[in-house]
Amino acid sequence: MRCPFCSKEETKVIDSRLAADGYQIRRRRECTSCKERFTTFESAELFIPYIVKNNGNREPFDANKLRISLIKALEKRPVSADDQERAINQIIVQLRATGEREVPSKLVGTLAMNVLKELDKVAYIRFASVYLSFEDIDEFIKEIEQLKA
Ligand SMILES: [Zn+2]
Repeated sequence: MRCPFCSKEETKVIDSRLAADGYQIRRRRECTSCKERFTTFESAELFIPYIVKNNGNREPFDANKLRISLIKALEKRPVSADDQERAINQIIVQLRATGEREVPSKLVGTLAMNVLKELDKVAYIRFASVYLSFEDIDEFIKEIEQLKA
């Protein structure tokens, strides 16, 4: 990479070590021309994809919005705050893992339902009933029957 002092392209790495609990690599570099030294950091580029809503609008993923709807579904359920946070993180990790620049909002709902299904069945049903806005009571019953099975 270019030397930030003299702009020459030749720099060499003189030291390389892990930083930030191993999530970064810190490199000490030296310019072969002017001999100035500088540090670079390398870390994984992590981004959460944009959310494309049903009407086609794109918006940045809002973890707080997700948190609020999960907390609402988990209200008065025997699920600790730690487990709630873990569930939210799980959803975020899965969103990142898609590697996509944008995903349909439907995917966030589906991921949330999958996580809740494991965590607490009642919360899952609450969330699903709001999120899927079941067309009719039969569809809702079908979903519950599947849960029982
Ligand atoms: Zn230089």
